[in-house]
Amino acid sequence: MATRFVIIGGGPAGNTAATYAARLGAEVTLIERDTIGGAAHLWDCIPSKTMIATGGAMSFSKRIEGMGLEQQDAEVDTPALTSRIDSIKQRLQHGVTRLLNSQGVTLIDGTARLVGAHEVEITTAAGVRTIQADAILLATGSRPRIPEWCFPDGERILTTRDCYPPVVFPESITVVGSGVTGVEFVHMFSSFGAKVTLVVSRQQVLPQKDPEVAAVLEDDFLKRGVQLLKGARATSIEREDDSVVVRCDDGRVVRSTHAVLAIGSVPNTDGLGLDAAGVVTDSGYVTINRHCQSNIAHIYAAGDVSGKLPLSSVASMQGRKVAEHVMGLNKVAHRHLDYDKAASAIFTEPEIADVGLAEAEAFAEGRKIRVTKVPFSATPKALINNDPRGFVKIVSDPATGVVLGGSIVGRHAAELISVIALAVTANLKVTDIVESLLVHPALAEALAEAAE
Ligand SMILES: Cc1cc2nc3c(=O)[nH]c(=O)nc-3n(C[C@H](O)[C@H](O)[C@H](O)COP(=O)(O)OP(=O)(O)OC[C@H]3O[C@@H](n4cnc5c(N)ncnc54)[C@H](O)[C@@H]3O)c2cc1C
Repeated sequence: MATRFVIIGGGPAGNTAATYAARLGAEVTLIERDTIGGAAHLWDCIPSKTMIATGGAMSFSKRIEGMGLEQQDAEVDTPALTSRIDSIKQRLQHGVTRLLNSQGVTLIDGTARLVGAHEVEITTAAGVRTIQADAILLATGSRPRIPEWCFPDGERILTTRDCYPPVVFPESITVVGSGVTGVEFVHMFSSFGAKVTLVVSRQQVLPQKDPEVAAVLEDDFLKRGVQLLKGARATSIEREDDSVVVRCDDGRVVRSTHAVLAIGSVPNTDGLGLDAAGVVTDSGYVTINRHCQSNIAHIYAAGDVSGKLPLSSVASMQGRKVAEHVMGLNKVAHRHLDYDKAASAIFTEPEIADVGLAEAEAFAEGRKIRVTKVPFSATPKALINNDPRGFVKIVSDPATGVVLGGSIVGRHAAELISVIALAVTANLKVTDIVESLLVHPALAEALAEAAE
């Protein structure tokens, strides 16, 4: 009899696991209460990056003068922007649904919860029923964290989910939270011409990132007129007619037409019946081992709910690894997921991307490294693009030349980091990058130079 594999949640973790497990011969049932594609398609990666792409085109139109063109100001067409975002979401959602159908995955539109270690109860429009499973994947994702002192109204006090685009476009907005999502929203709204204030709880935006990288971004924000409130924590956000007042713990007060919360997320585990199955959690996240198994061997968790790296790319890879494990493939050639080697990007202007060992991390560990850095201003393609901002930095082992990590700040950083990510994953050496015959003129030439 085929393995009965039941998956709760149809985001990147759930739908990737479903596709792979079905290909490997499992009888797969996928339950999704909202939209196949998950929050990633509906609320997070796809709509935010679509808005950023349109905002980027707007801000680029303000920088074309140096390219032998006349300046022309673009204006936002909100209905057209909304329908562009919707059509991209729908197209991707249809693509994933088609793929799952073609693999024979049973899709159920409903809400699921565990009622035993092998039983999943599903509530649909037609009623409630329980199905049996040999293996279960919890892939229920996460949602924005809302502190008890804030009451988003979806109109002017926003969570990230209210922004694609907001009902009324902000003239001014206060962004609370200066992590990856916060800085992307600063970039997004300032590209659309809003006056932006960023509440930064520490002394550096992107506190987890290389200070040199954060400095380039702060510099760009200041040039665009973004106000940085450093060392301040928001303690209340209140609406006063058509404006929003954000108060901080150091007494500073900001008034703007909108405010958006970007202070992290919480896992979707409430109501999931984890107690019924005896699944152990930590701060709401399901505790997993390196195979993504919970404390109950046949119950897995992947994606944001697993509390590892909250990235769509990581969720998909975890989903794939779970499918392989459920189907017994981990006993043959199987590479474990190494979260330290996950590439990530921040879609600001300039873009920021990094992978592997960071210079500051190596320094803290007292580890010997070789760091080479090349600015894009020395790269012909950056000059042709009229955008010489940023740099490429490669971290390698001085004894062996093996590439350990790197960061890129500049145009197309999210694409270019793939070269360093491949080198880090495959243990390639700096000479492997140097001796690759790359395209000229291309921004990737800076990678080869940094690898010299
Ligand atoms: C603003 C923002 C931008 C982001 N941008 C990026 C980016 O550019 N790149 C990137 O890699 N990551 C990005 N992320 C992170 C990324 O969105 C998440 O890491 C990713 O969505 C996690 O995938 P998942 O499969 O775990 O969960 P999700 O995509 O959240 O999917 C979980 C699904 O489970 C369903 N579900 C939950 N409970 C139940 C239940 N009981 N029964 C049935 N269904 C249920 C939900 O409806 C949902 O559809 C961003 C996040 C945010 C907030």
